[in-house]
Amino acid sequence: MSLPTSVAIIGAGMAGISAARALDEAGITVELFDKSRGTGGRMTSKRTDHGEFDIGTQYFTARHHAFRAEVESWHEKGWVARWQPRLCRIDEQGIHPSDDEQDRYVGSPRMTALSRGLLGNLTLHGSVRITRLEQHDQSWMLIDSEEGQYGPFDRVIVATPAPQAAPLLAAAPQLARAAEQMAMEPGWAVSIGFDQPLNIDVDAAFVRTGPLDWICANHSKPGRAENCNWVLQSTPQWAQQHLDTPPAEVAGLLLHALGEALQTPLPPAQLLQAHRWLYARPAEDCDWGALAAPDLGLYACGDWCLAGRLEGAWLSGRHAAQAVLGHH
Ligand code: FAD
Ligand code: NAD
Repeated sequence: MSLPTSVAIIGAGMAGISAARALDEAGITVELFDKSRGTGGRMTSKRTDHGEFDIGTQYFTARHHAFRAEVESWHEKGWVARWQPRLCRIDEQGIHPSDDEQDRYVGSPRMTALSRGLLGNLTLHGSVRITRLEQHDQSWMLIDSEEGQYGPFDRVIVATPAPQAAPLLAAAPQLARAAEQMAMEPGWAVSIGFDQPLNIDVDAAFVRTGPLDWICANHSKPGRAENCNWVLQSTPQWAQQHLDTPPAEVAGLLLHALGEALQTPLPPAQLLQAHRWLYARPAEDCDWGALAAPDLGLYACGDWCLAGRLEGAWLSGRHAAQAVLGHH
């Protein structure tokens, strides 16, 4: 099969951008489409009048040798920095220091600095929600929610969360079925801006009791403003039970849970906001790498094709690019 000259990628999160860069390096023209204005997907930072908050990906680790080498290059470019928080584990017995040797990285000065750096000069069509794909004479047209048309493209990579990928993969029923069957779990993230520092020796904690899963002092990450900003994340189970709870109520409940977890009175919150992630993480890891219907020129990637971590998304994007290039 001949090499494509143009590839459309739907989704400019880590998986889509990873695929885009690999194809660009191979000399292929790529265009990215995202329903959000910018890049990053679930690796995002929210701007507020109390500073910025990382409300999705909190940090990432690198285990696979290829990803380790890639992260090293990001580090050299200044897009990411190592983060060495005072880590704890919180359970029914209380707060236990839990420092370890793991290297953890964050985008610097905010999570989206990484996706912006990776995007570079690649073409991104932001605020474009693709609703269907049409194939004409071996090439693809992308149709958006306003009936705008983009194309033709030789190949299409769908790099959205599984439930959003399934309808776009309708032309390849096997791929659509795989995406439909991959359950993704929800999560709530709460941003809190306190008016003064908390009186504790904890930067972040894995929580093993109550509705919280993770708490983190956003300002402990390199490059952030000094405002006392915390991010709380719920367990998927709690989020499932509170999917339709109003955000203000969720924010109040999780703020209360923070006080309980830290066993300390909290200062007044100047900012309190909740964000619901309907598709926060795949319910399980798998070993697909990426999905491919080479006869149609249709591909899919995302963390749900490997593992629900930033590394899984990056590796899956690479797998999709390899499949487009005909390397397996
Ligand atoms: P996404 O980032 O979801 O990108 C998909 C993109 O597709 C999005 O930008 C979306 O807007 C776009 N899109 C969807 N549908 C359409 C459409 N129809 N048309 C156009 N665009 C569309 N991982 C870690 O490694 N460490 C962590 O600490 C961590 N914490 C997390 C905390 C939270 C709250 C969440 C939600 C996730 C966390 N993760 C973490 C997981 C990590 O964020 C993901 O694994 C990774 O970002 C997924 O990347 P992706 O490219 O597969 O998908
Ligand atoms: P990691 O190696 O730091 O952590 C993996 C898991 O090991 C943690 O979730 C925690 O349970 C445990 N752990 C690690 N270090 C610990 C310590 N010092 N003390 C106590 N427990 C410790 O990171 P990773 O494997 O790259 O995973 C990324 C993180 O992303 C995980 O924390 C995961 O829960 C989180 N995540 C969250 C969401 C969400 O929606 N909230 C989605 C995807 C991933």
